Amino acid sequence: MSDSVTGQTADVIVLGAGIVGVSVAIAARQRGLSVILVDRREPGSETSYGNAGVLSSGSILPLNEPSLWSALPRYMTNRHAALRWDPLWATRNVDWVVRFLANAVPSRVRPRATALHGLIGASLKLHREWIVQADAAQRIRETGWLKAWRSDAVAPATAEQAFLADYGIESRLLDRQAISALEPNILPVYKVGLLHTQTASVDSPGGVVKAYARMFAGLGGAIRQSDIKAIIPDGEGWRVMLADGGMSARHVVVALGPWSADLLRPLGYRVPMAFERGYHQEFKPNPARSLQRPIHDVEASFLMTPMEQGVRITSGVELTARDAPSSFAQLESVVPLARGVVEFGDAVGQPWRGARPTLPDSLPMIGPAPRHSGLWCAFGNQHIGFTTGPATGAAIAAMIGGASPAFDVGPFAPSRYL
Ligand SMILES: Cc1cc2nc3c(=O)[nH]c(=O)nc-3n(C[C@H](O)[C@H](O)[C@H](O)COP(=O)(O)OP(=O)(O)OC[C@H]3O[C@@H](n4cnc5c(N)ncnc54)[C@H](O)[C@@H]3O)c2cc1C
Repeated sequence: MSDSVTGQTADVIVLGAGIVGVSVAIAARQRGLSVILVDRREPGSETSYGNAGVLSSGSILPLNEPSLWSALPRYMTNRHAALRWDPLWATRNVDWVVRFLANAVPSRVRPRATALHGLIGASLKLHREWIVQADAAQRIRETGWLKAWRSDAVAPATAEQAFLADYGIESRLLDRQAISALEPNILPVYKVGLLHTQTASVDSPGGVVKAYARMFAGLGGAIRQSDIKAIIPDGEGWRVMLADGGMSARHVVVALGPWSADLLRPLGYRVPMAFERGYHQEFKPNPARSLQRPIHDVEASFLMTPMEQGVRITSGVELTARDAPSSFAQLESVVPLARGVVEFGDAVGQPWRGARPTLPDSLPMIGPAPRHSGLWCAFGNQHIGFTTGPATGAAIAAMIGGASPAFDVGPFAPSRYL
């Protein structure tokens, strides 16, 4: 039976139903295109499920910025909660490591911050619209994001505030008393705080992606659950091979997060992607000691977010192979420190592991694959993919439709690496 008989043809097939893929699918459907969204799992079950749920207005400075050099000696010991790395992985991926570090120079700060500022601004606008349209507005909190220092770290906090202010991003510097007034249920362990006032958060990132997927289905989009095996050029378009059949479309969008490189390799594209793995564990909240917003403990290197199921503690970065066995050392080292900030109960469920997909310049790829018509890249959203998914998707849909994206996509062109 041909695909047109089975109904498995569309203008656009989107591969991957994380926040990025679901966003591409919604935006393409809103442009009147027929869209099939494919994932082997339910929408929002992988990286887009386990993140810290911060919709960050201020994450315009990626990890590989100049201050990384002064932190490197501490990270080299491989005992720091912020960053662990696998020496064997580093040896095998020395090319990525060198390119990543080469971006941690002053001349690469402004161009990337400006690019990310455009992407983030457009994305937060869409999140705030879509979350209402998707009937999930109860999940978003407009209470900001608190970065907090245990030491007298006024200098880094004011430097960050000034940097953000240059981009029109608001924040408030807080002392110990102001932090207590803001978060009355935490113990007074922090001396300095910086409240990112325009940042929001959600109580279930996976729940938000699922709500967006329902919204896509409500717009007439099709969702198919299957393992994607290959993408093959087929005349003017593409054939997508699934574990249980095939589908055809004029356009295919690769939005497979940390798995994106796998399906592009047979087409001759070597995506320089590394995996900044991270973990979370949730704990039963103490209702008398609730948190109002996510807190990032800068010096202890963890994030703590009030979620639907409890307090979610997320760990720093583990640089290793995507599928290497889990190591819970970083997570285990920060949990006692988090207990010293706020009271919470026993663990809920098992620890979770995911991988932030990161390219050497910490900018995602958003745009056409350079050597194939109708093939689109939408991945590499590193630490802020939950924030930047909607505008990543909207930009791809705009380009497919021949329109201009809402922000400058030049710095995100896949051709810079492919
Ligand atoms: C610990 C941690 C904390 C984070 N905190 C934040 C935060 O607070 N704020 C923020 O903005 N970002 C955060 N992030 C980053 C963010 O979660 C990611 O950048 C984002 O979720 C990536 O989304 P995605 O859609 O690209 O990938 P994913 O959500 O991983 O989606 C990819 C999809 O592809 C599917 N797939 C893969 N291969 C196949 C195949 N062969 N066949 C079928 N389906 C396939 C998978 O099932 C998956 O659903 C965090 C990440 C981590 C790890």
